[in-house]
Amino acid sequence: MTTSVFVSGATGYIAQQVIALLISKNYNVVGSVRSAAKGDNLKKLHGSKFQYEVVPVLEKQGAFDEALKNHPEVTVFLHTASPATFTAEDNEKEILIPAINGTKYVLESISKSAPQIKRVVYTSSLVAIATPEQINDPTFEASEDVFSPITYDDGKSNSLSAYFASKTLAERAAWEFVKTTKPEFVLSTVNPVYVFGPQAKDEEAKGGLNLTAEIVNSVYKLKKDDEVPQLSGPFVDVRDIAKAHLVAFEKDEAKEQRILVYTEPFSSQVILNIIRKNFPELRNTLPVGNPENVDIALAKIDNEKSRKILGFEQIPLEDSIVDAIKQVIRANA
Ligand code: NAP
Repeated sequence: MTTSVFVSGATGYIAQQVIALLISKNYNVVGSVRSAAKGDNLKKLHGSKFQYEVVPVLEKQGAFDEALKNHPEVTVFLHTASPATFTAEDNEKEILIPAINGTKYVLESISKSAPQIKRVVYTSSLVAIATPEQINDPTFEASEDVFSPITYDDGKSNSLSAYFASKTLAERAAWEFVKTTKPEFVLSTVNPVYVFGPQAKDEEAKGGLNLTAEIVNSVYKLKKDDEVPQLSGPFVDVRDIAKAHLVAFEKDEAKEQRILVYTEPFSSQVILNIIRKNFPELRNTLPVGNPENVDIALAKIDNEKSRKILGFEQIPLEDSIVDAIKQVIRANA
């Protein structure tokens, strides 16, 4: 029998790659979206093995009850929906509450309305492991065993901290839920670092992209005299994150694990160097920056345990950038 997988936040950059991979592996997918128009667009993109349910508000108790009751065939739930932004007018209302309460309520709904669901994967983040300062501190050791010390009050102070706190406290809430309520399902988390790489469908690569895909896009869009941004950090390709979500519910070794997925460091200058090397036709319009400056201050990321569970070769930064830029050029031609 074909397994049916529920994916919350189906419109998302990561979610769409997860959905495309699930469908290619013959899973049926039910995605949650905030409007029927978004669901219809996804149906056009992903075809007949994709169905959707409209769940307009994440942070409402019981928000997923009806959607789950409509799909008794679903046995796996991937919770990817969460505000993925570093800008908000109201940090609590727009970031902290939907992420944290949304996660608690989704798990409550699964437990109550869909006891046939046996595996749940929460899309967490490196930011649930390390603070912004720790991520770029070479003396800090990040691993699956570490939780960020960030607090809810820290999260109220600015939007960057709000995002970091939202992911940390939502992941903590998920583990706490499992510990205290002992549900029918087994929980795993996928903790990606900065995610780059192509959109699942070319149609989605037009205009502005999501927060992290736009980091690469914004280097591609630099003009000759622009300053090169100073951003740097750890990278992973979105197609590897999609594979990690499947491993997280398919493999027994992934049960109750945090899967920290990291490939190699990046900086805006390194991204620029890769684009200039692989797209000679863009060299005249892009800045040069300081091509020799490729030193990146980064925490030590020990994810040996996760690499063993994942068991696949990861896509290098250069291939990821080249594939993403080729797609943006194609989509906007
Ligand atoms: P994305 O493209 O912005 O997707 C976010 C998804 O969540 C969208 O489906 C969005 O729906 C939904 N969403 C956001 N706020 C919501 C709310 N208040 N109520 C209901 N739905 C809401 O971002 P992404 O990069 O794919 O992120 C997906 C997940 O991965 C998030 O949990 C994020 O924290 C995590 N993550 C991402 C990265 C990264 O580098 N990209 C790294 C680590 C972890 P709409 O389309 O309707 O807005």
